[in-house]
Amino acid sequence: MKDEKKYLGVAVPRPRVGFFELSSCEGCQLQLLNNEASLLDFLGLVEIVNFREGMKEAADDYQIAFVEGSVTRADEEERLHKIRRNADLVVALGSCACFGGVNQLKNRFQDQEWVKKEVYGNHPIASQEARPLSAFIKVDLEIYGCPIKKEEVERIVTNLVLGKAVNHPKYPICMECKAKENICLFELGEPCLGPITRAGCDAWCPSNRLGCWGCRGPAPEANIAELKRIVAKRKIPLERLLDRLECFGGFAGEAGKLRLALEAAK
Ligand code: SF4
Ligand code: SF4
Ligand code: SF4
Repeated sequence: MKDEKKYLGVAVPRPRVGFFELSSCEGCQLQLLNNEASLLDFLGLVEIVNFREGMKEAADDYQIAFVEGSVTRADEEERLHKIRRNADLVVALGSCACFGGVNQLKNRFQDQEWVKKEVYGNHPIASQEARPLSAFIKVDLEIYGCPIKKEEVERIVTNLVLGKAVNHPKYPICMECKAKENICLFELGEPCLGPITRAGCDAWCPSNRLGCWGCRGPAPEANIAELKRIVAKRKIPLERLLDRLECFGGFAGEAGKLRLALEAAK
Protein backbone atom coordinates (compact mmCIF):
# COMPACT_ATOMS: atom_id res chain seq x y z
CA MET A 1 0.00 0.00 0.00
CA LYS A 2 1.39 3.41 -0.96
CA ASP A 3 1.95 6.37 1.31
CA GLU A 4 1.56 4.68 4.70
CA LYS A 5 0.78 6.88 7.71
CA LYS A 6 1.82 6.21 11.27
CA TYR A 7 -0.17 6.46 14.45
CA LEU A 8 1.79 6.19 17.74
CA GLY A 9 4.68 4.83 15.70
CA VAL A 10 2.61 2.02 14.19
CA ALA A 11 2.06 1.98 10.43
CA VAL A 12 -1.60 2.41 9.52
CA PRO A 13 -2.49 1.21 6.04
CA ARG A 14 -4.12 3.81 3.83
CA PRO A 15 -6.23 2.03 1.23
CA ARG A 16 -6.79 3.44 -2.23
CA VAL A 17 -10.49 4.04 -2.68
CA GLY A 18 -12.80 5.10 -5.48
CA PHE A 19 -16.28 6.58 -5.36
CA PHE A 20 -18.65 5.88 -8.23
CA GLU A 21 -22.23 6.67 -9.11
CA LEU A 22 -24.77 4.84 -11.22
CA SER A 23 -28.36 6.17 -11.46
CA SER A 24 -28.61 8.41 -8.42
CA CYS A 25 -29.01 11.96 -7.24
CA GLU A 26 -25.37 11.91 -6.01
CA GLY A 27 -26.65 13.00 -2.61
CA CYS A 28 -24.77 10.27 -0.78
CA GLN A 29 -21.42 11.35 -2.23
CA LEU A 30 -22.31 14.96 -1.50
CA GLN A 31 -22.86 14.04 2.14
CA LEU A 32 -19.20 13.06 2.39
CA LEU A 33 -17.94 16.22 0.72
CA ASN A 34 -20.23 18.33 2.90
CA ASN A 35 -18.70 17.00 6.07
CA GLU A 36 -16.23 19.86 6.32
CA ALA A 37 -15.56 19.36 10.03
CA SER A 38 -13.89 16.00 9.48
CA LEU A 39 -13.19 15.89 5.73
CA LEU A 40 -9.43 16.39 6.18
CA ASP A 41 -9.27 13.61 8.76
CA PHE A 42 -11.20 11.38 6.38
CA LEU A 43 -8.76 12.17 3.58
CA GLY A 44 -5.93 11.21 5.91
CA LEU A 45 -7.53 7.83 6.47
CA VAL A 46 -7.83 6.80 2.83
CA GLU A 47 -6.19 7.72 -0.46
CA ILE A 48 -8.96 8.74 -2.83
CA VAL A 49 -7.96 7.93 -6.41
CA ASN A 50 -11.32 8.23 -8.18
CA PHE A 51 -14.18 10.52 -7.15
CA ARG A 52 -15.77 12.34 -10.10
CA GLU A 53 -17.84 14.59 -7.88
CA GLY A 54 -14.78 15.85 -6.01
CA MET A 55 -11.68 15.60 -8.25
CA LYS A 56 -10.42 15.42 -11.84
CA GLU A 57 -8.01 12.47 -11.49
CA ALA A 58 -9.53 9.05 -12.14
CA ALA A 59 -7.38 5.96 -11.54
CA ASP A 60 -8.55 2.36 -11.72
CA ASP A 61 -6.15 0.85 -9.17
CA TYR A 62 -8.43 1.20 -6.15
CA GLN A 63 -8.84 -1.41 -3.43
CA ILE A 64 -12.19 -0.29 -2.06
CA ALA A 65 -15.00 0.89 -4.35
CA PHE A 66 -17.95 2.79 -2.92
CA VAL A 67 -20.78 2.63 -5.42
CA GLU A 68 -23.82 4.90 -5.17
CA GLY A 69 -27.00 4.50 -7.21
CA SER A 70 -28.99 1.69 -8.75
CA VAL A 71 -28.57 -0.01 -12.10
CA THR A 72 -31.09 1.31 -14.62
CA ARG A 73 -29.16 0.92 -17.90
CA ALA A 74 -27.15 -1.80 -19.64
CA ASP A 75 -24.00 0.35 -19.73
CA GLU A 76 -24.24 0.80 -15.94
CA GLU A 77 -24.35 -2.97 -15.58
CA GLU A 78 -21.10 -3.25 -17.58
CA ARG A 79 -19.48 -0.46 -15.58
CA LEU A 80 -20.44 -2.15 -12.32
CA HIS A 81 -18.84 -5.42 -13.41
CA LYS A 82 -15.66 -3.54 -14.28
CA ILE A 83 -15.62 -1.88 -10.85
CA ARG A 84 -16.09 -5.31 -9.25
CA ARG A 85 -13.13 -6.71 -11.22
CA ASN A 86 -10.88 -3.82 -10.14
CA ALA A 87 -11.77 -3.67 -6.45
CA ASP A 88 -10.98 -6.01 -3.56
CA LEU A 89 -14.00 -4.74 -1.69
CA VAL A 90 -17.24 -3.28 -3.09
CA VAL A 91 -19.43 -1.20 -0.79
CA ALA A 92 -23.01 -0.30 -1.75
CA LEU A 93 -23.46 3.31 -0.68
CA GLY A 94 -27.01 4.39 0.14
CA SER A 95 -30.51 3.09 -0.43
CA CYS A 96 -30.36 3.24 -4.24
CA ALA A 97 -27.33 0.94 -4.27
CA CYS A 98 -28.63 -1.32 -1.49
CA PHE A 99 -32.30 -1.66 -2.48
CA GLY A 100 -32.93 0.24 -5.73
CA GLY A 101 -33.95 3.33 -3.73
CA VAL A 102 -36.46 5.84 -4.99
CA ASN A 103 -35.55 4.82 -8.56
CA GLN A 104 -37.22 1.44 -8.06
CA LEU A 105 -40.63 3.14 -7.69
CA LYS A 106 -40.93 2.88 -11.46
CA ASN A 107 -40.72 -0.93 -11.26
CA ARG A 108 -44.35 -0.91 -10.03
CA PHE A 109 -45.48 -0.21 -13.58
CA GLN A 110 -45.68 -3.27 -15.77
CA ASP A 111 -45.31 -1.32 -19.00
CA GLN A 112 -41.88 0.33 -18.77
CA GLU A 113 -42.25 1.73 -22.31
CA TRP A 114 -45.30 3.66 -21.09
CA VAL A 115 -43.28 4.98 -18.14
CA LYS A 116 -40.53 6.19 -20.49
CA LYS A 117 -43.07 7.91 -22.72
CA GLU A 118 -44.73 9.63 -19.74
CA VAL A 119 -41.41 10.86 -18.33
CA TYR A 120 -39.33 11.62 -21.42
CA GLY A 121 -42.02 12.23 -24.06
CA ASN A 122 -40.49 12.35 -27.52
CA HIS A 123 -36.93 12.27 -26.15
CA PRO A 124 -36.67 8.71 -24.84
CA ILE A 125 -33.46 7.52 -23.19
CA ALA A 126 -32.26 3.97 -22.52
CA SER A 127 -33.75 2.91 -19.20
CA GLN A 128 -34.68 -0.42 -17.66
CA GLU A 129 -36.09 -1.54 -14.31
CA ALA A 130 -34.04 -0.18 -11.40
CA ARG A 131 -32.10 -2.86 -9.53
CA PRO A 132 -29.69 -2.81 -6.56
CA LEU A 133 -26.01 -3.67 -7.04
CA SER A 134 -26.48 -7.11 -5.48
CA ALA A 135 -28.69 -8.13 -8.42
CA PHE A 136 -25.55 -8.08 -10.62
CA ILE A 137 -22.42 -8.48 -8.50
CA LYS A 138 -21.23 -9.67 -5.10
CA VAL A 139 -21.49 -6.77 -2.65
CA ASP A 140 -19.20 -6.99 0.38
CA LEU A 141 -20.81 -4.36 2.53
CA GLU A 142 -23.92 -2.19 2.49
CA ILE A 143 -24.18 1.29 3.99
CA TYR A 144 -27.81 2.24 4.36
CA GLY A 145 -29.75 5.49 4.18
CA CYS A 146 -31.12 8.07 1.78
CA PRO A 147 -28.84 9.83 2.12
CA ILE A 148 -26.18 7.97 4.07
CA LYS A 149 -25.12 9.49 7.37
CA LYS A 150 -21.62 10.85 6.98
CA GLU A 151 -20.66 10.09 10.59
CA GLU A 152 -21.66 6.47 10.05
CA VAL A 153 -19.62 6.21 6.85
CA GLU A 154 -16.56 7.59 8.59
CA ARG A 155 -16.97 5.11 11.43
CA ILE A 156 -17.36 2.23 8.98
CA VAL A 157 -14.38 3.31 6.87
CA THR A 158 -12.25 3.61 10.02
CA ASN A 159 -13.20 0.03 10.91
CA LEU A 160 -12.34 -1.15 7.39
CA VAL A 161 -8.94 0.54 7.50
CA LEU A 162 -8.16 -0.92 10.93
CA GLY A 163 -9.43 -4.36 9.88
CA LYS A 164 -12.23 -4.30 12.44
CA ALA A 165 -15.63 -5.88 11.89
CA VAL A 166 -18.45 -3.65 10.68
CA ASN A 167 -21.66 -4.35 12.56
CA HIS A 168 -24.93 -2.64 11.78
CA PRO A 169 -27.51 -2.25 14.57
CA LYS A 170 -29.92 -5.16 14.73
CA TYR A 171 -32.59 -3.20 16.59
CA PRO A 172 -35.17 -0.88 14.98
CA ILE A 173 -35.34 2.94 14.85
CA CYS A 174 -37.85 2.95 17.74
CA MET A 175 -35.00 2.14 20.15
CA GLU A 176 -33.09 5.27 19.12
CA CYS A 177 -36.29 7.32 19.10
CA LYS A 178 -37.23 6.23 22.64
CA ALA A 179 -33.70 6.96 23.87
CA LYS A 180 -34.19 10.54 22.63
CA GLU A 181 -37.50 10.76 24.52
CA ASN A 182 -39.41 11.82 21.39
CA ILE A 183 -43.19 11.80 21.40
CA CYS A 184 -44.25 8.79 19.33
CA LEU A 185 -45.72 10.05 16.06
CA PHE A 186 -48.45 7.41 16.15
CA GLU A 187 -49.81 9.42 19.12
CA LEU A 188 -50.14 12.33 16.68
CA GLY A 189 -51.82 10.25 13.97
CA GLU A 190 -48.73 10.00 11.76
CA PRO A 191 -47.61 6.62 10.40
CA CYS A 192 -44.00 5.64 11.02
CA LEU A 193 -41.87 2.69 9.90
CA GLY A 194 -39.64 3.06 12.97
CA PRO A 195 -40.77 -0.27 14.48
CA ILE A 196 -39.54 -2.27 11.48
CA THR A 197 -36.63 -0.22 10.11
CA ARG A 198 -32.98 -0.85 10.89
CA ALA A 199 -31.54 1.71 13.31
CA GLY A 200 -28.36 3.69 12.76
CA CYS A 201 -29.61 7.14 11.72
CA ASP A 202 -30.27 8.18 15.33
CA ALA A 203 -34.00 8.41 14.57
CA TRP A 204 -33.31 11.29 12.19
CA CYS A 205 -36.89 11.79 10.93
CA PRO A 206 -38.94 11.13 14.09
CA SER A 207 -36.63 13.51 15.97
CA ASN A 208 -37.80 16.17 13.50
CA ARG A 209 -41.47 15.24 13.82
CA LEU A 210 -41.56 13.20 10.60
CA GLY A 211 -42.52 9.55 10.53
CA CYS A 212 -39.82 7.17 9.30
CA TRP A 213 -40.06 6.14 5.62
CA GLY A 214 -37.78 3.13 6.00
CA CYS A 215 -34.81 4.33 3.95
CA ARG A 216 -32.44 2.06 5.86
CA GLY A 217 -34.44 -1.06 5.04
CA PRO A 218 -35.81 -3.73 7.34
CA ALA A 219 -34.40 -4.45 10.77
CA PRO A 220 -33.66 -8.14 11.27
CA GLU A 221 -36.82 -9.96 12.40
CA ALA A 222 -38.98 -6.92 11.60
CA ASN A 223 -42.55 -7.67 12.68
CA ILE A 224 -44.48 -6.15 9.81
CA ALA A 225 -47.74 -7.92 10.76
CA GLU A 226 -47.67 -6.17 14.13
CA LEU A 227 -47.03 -2.81 12.48
CA LYS A 228 -50.07 -3.37 10.26
CA ARG A 229 -52.13 -4.05 13.37
CA ILE A 230 -50.88 -0.82 14.99
CA VAL A 231 -51.75 1.15 11.84
CA ALA A 232 -55.23 -0.39 11.67
CA LYS A 233 -55.83 0.22 15.38
CA ARG A 234 -54.95 3.88 14.91
CA LYS A 235 -57.36 4.04 11.94
CA ILE A 236 -54.57 5.16 9.61
CA PRO A 237 -55.34 4.04 6.02
CA LEU A 238 -53.14 1.13 4.92
CA GLU A 239 -52.44 3.06 1.70
CA ARG A 240 -50.35 5.47 3.77
CA LEU A 241 -48.35 2.56 5.09
CA LEU A 242 -47.97 1.23 1.54
CA ASP A 243 -46.56 4.58 0.32
CA ARG A 244 -43.77 4.24 2.84
CA LEU A 245 -43.11 0.54 2.34
CA GLU A 246 -42.73 1.12 -1.40
CA CYS A 247 -40.58 4.21 -1.26
CA PHE A 248 -36.97 2.96 -1.03
CA GLY A 249 -37.17 -0.68 -2.06
CA GLY A 250 -36.00 -2.22 1.23
CA PHE A 251 -39.50 -3.55 1.88
CA ALA A 252 -40.29 -4.40 -1.74
CA GLY A 253 -41.59 -7.92 -0.99
CA GLU A 254 -43.98 -6.77 1.76
CA ALA A 255 -45.07 -3.75 -0.24
CA GLY A 256 -45.94 -5.93 -3.23
CA LYS A 257 -48.08 -8.23 -1.08
CA LEU A 258 -49.86 -5.29 0.57
CA ARG A 259 -50.51 -3.62 -2.81
CA LEU A 260 -52.08 -6.83 -4.13
CA ALA A 261 -54.24 -7.20 -0.99
CA LEU A 262 -55.44 -3.58 -1.23
CA GLU A 263 -56.24 -3.92 -4.92
CA ALA A 264 -58.12 -7.18 -4.30
CA ALA A 265 -60.17 -5.49 -1.55
CA LYS A 266 -61.38 -2.69 -3.90
S1 SF4 B 1 -29.72 6.92 -1.64
FE1 SF4 B 1 -30.88 8.84 -1.70
S2 SF4 B 1 -29.33 10.45 -1.44
FE2 SF4 B 1 -28.25 8.55 -1.99
S3 SF4 B 1 -28.06 8.65 -4.22
FE3 SF4 B 1 -29.94 7.50 -3.79
S4 SF4 B 1 -31.56 9.07 -3.84
FE4 SF4 B 1 -29.63 10.15 -3.64
S1 SF4 C 1 -42.19 7.91 16.33
FE1 SF4 C 1 -41.73 6.12 15.09
S2 SF4 C 1 -39.67 5.56 15.68
FE2 SF4 C 1 -40.44 6.90 17.28
S3 SF4 C 1 -41.28 5.49 18.79
FE3 SF4 C 1 -42.97 6.10 17.44
S4 SF4 C 1 -43.03 4.46 15.90
FE4 SF4 C 1 -41.04 4.32 16.92
S1 SF4 D 1 -35.82 7.85 10.34
FE1 SF4 D 1 -36.26 6.34 8.76
S2 SF4 D 1 -36.53 7.49 6.85
FE2 SF4 D 1 -35.55 8.85 8.35
S3 SF4 D 1 -33.37 8.63 7.96
FE3 SF4 D 1 -33.86 7.15 9.57
S4 SF4 D 1 -34.34 5.25 8.48
FE4 SF4 D 1 -34.40 6.89 6.97
